[in-house]
Amino acid sequence: MSDFSTFQRNNPDFPGEICIRYGEPMSKHTSFRIGGNVEAMAFPKNREELSLLLNWSGLLDRKPVILGAGTNVLAPDEGMEGLIICLKDCLDGMERLDDRRIRVMAGVTLSRAAMFAASQGLSGLEFAHGIPGTLGGGVYMNAGAYGGDLESVCREVELMDFRGNLYTRTGEEMDFSYRHSCLESEPAIVVSAVLELEPGKEEDIRGRMKALQTKRLASQPLNLPSAGSAFKRPAGGYAAALIEQAGLKGFRVGDAAISEKHAGFAVNLGGATAADVKKLLEEVSRRVEAHSGIRLEPEIRIW
Ligand SMILES: Cc1cc2nc3c(=O)[nH]c(=O)nc-3n(C[C@H](O)[C@H](O)[C@H](O)COP(=O)(O)OP(=O)(O)OC[C@H]3O[C@@H](n4cnc5c(N)ncnc54)[C@H](O)[C@@H]3O)c2cc1C
Repeated sequence: MSDFSTFQRNNPDFPGEICIRYGEPMSKHTSFRIGGNVEAMAFPKNREELSLLLNWSGLLDRKPVILGAGTNVLAPDEGMEGLIICLKDCLDGMERLDDRRIRVMAGVTLSRAAMFAASQGLSGLEFAHGIPGTLGGGVYMNAGAYGGDLESVCREVELMDFRGNLYTRTGEEMDFSYRHSCLESEPAIVVSAVLELEPGKEEDIRGRMKALQTKRLASQPLNLPSAGSAFKRPAGGYAAALIEQAGLKGFRVGDAAISEKHAGFAVNLGGATAADVKKLLEEVSRRVEAHSGIRLEPEIRIW
């Protein structure tokens, strides 16, 4: 069984309260504004609905694909079969646990989590203000910026396996490293995370967040669709500097281009396809290697 809509029609007791859309364009759910239609996209509201959905989808041929805010993915032009489970705004909520710790649900954006921490007089999440993805997507790839990352504050992650069972991992067990966690090889869904922060003055925390936001606005092409940094930082250099040195600022394939403002970003100038972006990344990687001997690896998740 791989056709989710047929499956749902043939199973009239499927929980109808779970919001499912058929033929939904991925371009509506990715910051690149790229991607064809998906067979079915589900929007569970809470962990109970997520667990129910996973129990049912166990009867399908293929495992569901998890989507957060879609700010780090390149979705295929031809669309996707099977079930996509979108968690942005669905697994919602944040709470203060004690004098240093907060729990953040996976669907909350990192910017909102940083604002919440500031409002609680807790410092350490300032780096995350301005990262447009969700906490879940951030844990998946250990999101970071300006010297901070989730590894440094994440103490516990609540996970759900693809049969709907909940379990927890400590921060150490998440095997975090630069833009990596164990979730790249362990099929599981982030439901929430406990973050440990330092008490601080709300005014100072907000001041640091504002300064980082100003830096972002000045240096990044935030007016154009992208998925953030196109490449991981290689050992011994910065991707943006290597791309610029290879003379590739503004380099284009179709409507996909290396940003004129920040060479680390691949942007969609309007009508870029996933094929354009893939070709652009391959060509940039090839030319940078020819110029500097350093091979760039994509940071963007190519689906
Ligand atoms: C303008 C811009 C600026 C950015 N700046 C930064 C930056 O400074 N630092 C940085 O690190 N990143 C940055 N990014 C990239 C992106 O925002 C982060 O990688 C973010 O953590 C991705 O979260 P997401 O919810 O959008 O994940 P998605 O793009 O939806 O998914 C990314 C991956 O995570 C998986 N995933 C998502 N949610 C879950 C979950 N709940 N459980 C398990 N797996 C999940 C998906 O299956 C996918 O493989 C930027 C992006 C943009 C567009």
